Amino acid sequence: MKNKSLTQLKCRVEARAILKEFLVESPDEIDLEVIAWHSCRLHLEFGGLDSAEGRLIARPPSGGIIRINDKLSSRRTRFTIAHEIGHFRIHGAQMCSDSSQDLATWGGNSIEVEANYFAAELLMPEFLFSKEVNGIRPSWGKVKSISDKYNTSRYATAIQMIEYTNEPCALVCSTCGIIHWVKVSSSFRELGFFIGSGNPLNEYTGAYEIFSKKSDELSIPSKTMASAWLSDRNFNDNQFVLEDSIRYEDDVLSIIYVEDDIL
Ligand SMILES: [Zn+2]
Repeated sequence: MKNKSLTQLKCRVEARAILKEFLVESPDEIDLEVIAWHSCRLHLEFGGLDSAEGRLIARPPSGGIIRINDKLSSRRTRFTIAHEIGHFRIHGAQMCSDSSQDLATWGGNSIEVEANYFAAELLMPEFLFSKEVNGIRPSWGKVKSISDKYNTSRYATAIQMIEYTNEPCALVCSTCGIIHWVKVSSSFRELGFFIGSGNPLNEYTGAYEIFSKKSDELSIPSKTMASAWLSDRNFNDNQFVLEDSIRYEDDVLSIIYVEDDIL
């Protein structure tokens, strides 16, 4: 089996190398049409897709076509183009057809996950993105402001935030009340905190509230008992994490931030 983190690193390094080649120094200089053509000989075409959001038809290394569903928002269009460039550059793919689910798969180890990590890095590369998140407490409010600047989805932006922040935090995706996958920051991992995937959401979490009451997302980060999220240690009822949870299509996405008092 491939090493997951090594493969994801390879995808990120490949994306950064392309941007360096194009002398990109700010988010508005990431011109995907130019990158697709000059680095891969891929033309962009729009429309002609029913259920798929994007399709690659190519013959590496001579190039081909990226076809994009013309009903997508500008942010989804950009992510889909970047994802298809990833299939071409990383996988040498000749034919891929991607659904909205393929473009939102971040857990596990598949070519879709690899193409998504490549796309996130192509749109929000470390050399630009790190300075956006250093010293900033992660929250959906911050994710929104960065995603507006980079013209990216909140989902992909949150993934990058957890990847490059120095703060101890985690991004948790829950589906039908079950923790589906968890991405943690390096400092969260180094401090020995753990959130297990596959477990039902604790009833004292904000994410559970959203599922059970079908309530709207929490508007601001709120205190949640640390024991409701962090299952690996014994915490008393006066120890808290900050939780910021939102509904995202059929899932709930939670940013969990560990404050100094429980370190
Ligand atoms: Zn794909």
